[in-house]
Amino acid sequence: MSTYDRVALIGLGLIASSMFWAIKRGNLAGEVTGYARTAETRDTARRIGLCDRVYDSVAETVEGADLVVLCVPVGAMGAVAAEMAPHLAPGATVSDVGSVKRAVIDAVGPHLPEGVHFVPGHPMAGTEHSGPESGFAELFDNRWCLLVPAEGSDPAAVARLRGFWEAIGSNVEEMEPDHHDLVCAVTSHAPHLIAYTMVGVADDLRRVTDTEVVKYSAAGFRDFTRIAASDPTMWRDVFMTNKDATLEILGRFTEELFALQRAIRTGDGDHLHDYFTRTRAIRRGIIEAGQDTDAPDFGRGAKR
Ligand code: NAP
Repeated sequence: MSTYDRVALIGLGLIASSMFWAIKRGNLAGEVTGYARTAETRDTARRIGLCDRVYDSVAETVEGADLVVLCVPVGAMGAVAAEMAPHLAPGATVSDVGSVKRAVIDAVGPHLPEGVHFVPGHPMAGTEHSGPESGFAELFDNRWCLLVPAEGSDPAAVARLRGFWEAIGSNVEEMEPDHHDLVCAVTSHAPHLIAYTMVGVADDLRRVTDTEVVKYSAAGFRDFTRIAASDPTMWRDVFMTNKDATLEILGRFTEELFALQRAIRTGDGDHLHDYFTRTRAIRRGIIEAGQDTDAPDFGRGAKR
């Protein structure tokens, strides 16, 4: 079932390569073209068969494409959009996979010519790995993809992109950009910052305790380290562009942290118990919604 004749992927990292393998799995496009900034990534893509054709320029990659998806870090979207804009086919849909939506809309929208449909998107799935060899077809299965259509977007273009993401394996929902950025600040951006901080703190501590932090990491720390291994460029851009929502959530986080700190200092066990009971219910909700496994130790198995 081909949803588009020619899909162009700009940026060939984790998300683009996963999209490509999912497109191939479902036979969702006549042809997929690809472009990456460095010759090294383009060579790797050619070697592993990532994209039907890999071009050395953005212009050739988007030529004749009826869907173009920007898969570069959020801070690079504007420059890429400016470069590709003169080469877009009339009636094409331009989308992206950026983790922040308001900043991408502001950076990309002004470059797009009349007659091109702009339907920003954000697949809510990822790993701590990056680059052209990190993708896999199942990444988006049963995960959410949020579409953030610009005001006055052609409903037919939005519906077609929705069908494409559903065929890739995702559940799709439409959302307004500022709301998207707030939701992601809570579910993804603030948690990443907290993980980065926790691992940074432990790194300081490691100088004192040497290998103990690593040795006993399965006690909880290990899960922070996975998140804190995420791509530094991508995450720098997320915090540079989703400033307000992230700061709001971090402000609330700090208040709650102080309240818990106080409960520990004053010996208020009821406060701690009530709090942890509430958070445990949230975890149960995520499992019931099919968004994680209930296997002990996240299904890692005893030996790993
Ligand atoms: P990635 O694996 O690091 O790949 C990024 C790609 O963008 C690479 O092909 C890289 O090219 C290219 N690139 C980097 N800087 C660029 C620049 N200044 N100009 C042009 N191209 C540039 O990244 P990813 O994880 O696929 O993330 C891509 C997008 O998806 C980001 O906007 C991110 O916010 C979003 N996203 C990520 C996740 C996740 O968990 N990773 C989840 C959802 C959405 P070279 O390899 O040639 O340097």
